[in-house]
Amino acid sequence: MTSHLGAACRAIPAEWGRDQQGGWTPTRWFPEPHWEVICPECGDDGGPRELQASEILTRRGYYETQLEARAAANRHAVGLE
Ligand SMILES: [Zn+2]
Repeated sequence: MTSHLGAACRAIPAEWGRDQQGGWTPTRWFPEPHWEVICPECGDDGGPRELQASEILTRRGYYETQLEARAAANRHAVGLE
């Protein structure tokens, strides 16, 4: 594995809109969110889960807590998974 220093965790958005450049931007979050890892270097565009390829979803994961997601992002960032 190579390191992917752009990997970061975030709360999974509940609703989406478009920014001025036409990209996806979250507009609402769940009150008690789950968490995922976004890695642009793996080709993740950061958009809705429903539109992602299965390998991107596997990379994102689905975490109960921010702590777990941050740990997964850190492991991915240094090339451990
Ligand atoms: Zn990556």
